[in-house]
Amino acid sequence: MTNDAVAAQSASPTLDVRGLSVAFRRRNGLVRVVRDVDLTLGPGEVLGLVGESGSGKSILARAVLGTLPRQAEVLGGSIAFSGGDLMRMPPSQVRRLRGDRIAIVPQEPMTSLNPSLRIGRQLTEVLEVHRPEIRSKERSVRAVEMLDLVGVTYADERLAQYPHQLSGGLRQRVAIAMALICGRVELLIADEPTTALDVTIQAQILDLFVRLQKSQRMSVLLITHDLGVIAQTAQRVAVMYAGEIVEVADVNDLFASPRHPYTRGLLDSLPRSGRVARKSHLPSIEGSVPSPSAAVRDGCSFADRCAFRIAICDQQAPPLDSAGLGRSVRCHRWADLTAGFARRDALL
Ligand code: SF4
Repeated sequence: MTNDAVAAQSASPTLDVRGLSVAFRRRNGLVRVVRDVDLTLGPGEVLGLVGESGSGKSILARAVLGTLPRQAEVLGGSIAFSGGDLMRMPPSQVRRLRGDRIAIVPQEPMTSLNPSLRIGRQLTEVLEVHRPEIRSKERSVRAVEMLDLVGVTYADERLAQYPHQLSGGLRQRVAIAMALICGRVELLIADEPTTALDVTIQAQILDLFVRLQKSQRMSVLLITHDLGVIAQTAQRVAVMYAGEIVEVADVNDLFASPRHPYTRGLLDSLPRSGRVARKSHLPSIEGSVPSPSAAVRDGCSFADRCAFRIAICDQQAPPLDSAGLGRSVRCHRWADLTAGFARRDALL
C-alpha cells in the first residue's frame, strides 16, 4: 500500500458502507442487485469501483446519493457519511447534502444539464439552492471562476450558451463545474465520467479530475468499466461482480498480483506492455454476469465462469477474507491460486 493510501485508510472514513443490500421489487418477488457490500473511502482518497454492466456498481452509487429508483428497496445496511447514517436521515436532509457536500458527475453530462436553460442560469441555480448567503451578483462571478477552473475557454461568453451549443468535452467540464461550484464537496461520485467522450478528451478530463481531487482534497468514488482509467487515477480498487465485492486492494497491488480469478481474468486480457495503459476496456471473460433475476445459486457467484472451480465452490459462498494489509478477497482458493498466478507471471 502507498503511504497516501495508508494515511487515508487510518483516518476516519469519509464514506463507510456496511452490509448494504438492495433489491428490486418484481412481480415474482425481490431480486437482489447489491449484496452485503462493505466499502470504505478515506479522506482525499480515490477509490475505483470496477465491474461489468449489471454488476451493481451504479445502484450502489445511487444508494449513497439517495437516488435509488422507485422499485428499489434497501434490505439492510448502513451508509455513514462524515459521521451520520444516510440511510436513517430524513430525505430532505439527504437532498441538502446532495449537490453540497456530496456531488455526482454522471457519464452523460446531459443527464445533469437542463437542455433548455443557459449554462450561467444552471450554475447560479445550484448556488441559490445550496449557498443562499452568496449574493446574486457574486453568483455569476463565481460561475465564471468555476468554468475557468475546469478549463472552459471564454467562460464569460459560455454563461449565455445552452448545453447543445457546447462539445461533449465542454459539457462534461460544465457538469464538473456544477458538481463542485458550492466549494465544499467532500465526496464526489464519478459514474463513468469519460465513457461518452473520445480518447483525447477522455485523457484531458481525467487529468482535470486528478488535479481537482488533489487541490480540493475530495474523496472520489470513481465508477468505471475501464481499467486504464483506474490505473491512471485511483489509489485503491474494489472489484464488483454480481452485486458483491469480490476483491479490494491498493491499485498497484491489484495490477501486480490479482488474487481473485475474476480480477485475474480482467487483467489477463490487457496487453502485456500496456497493462496499465490509458485505454484498456474490460475484456470479455467467457460467459456473462448472471442476471440478478436468475435463481440465486448456492456457492460462489463466479463459479459458472471460473476455471479454478472445485467442489466447495458450488456448496458454500466464499466470505470476503482478509488477504494482507488493506486487501480482501472473496474466493475459497485465493491463497493457493495466488502462488500459481505468481508462477505463471514468472514464465511470461
Ligand atoms: S470460490 Fe471457487 S469458483 Fe469462486 S472464484 Fe474462487 S475458485 Fe473460482
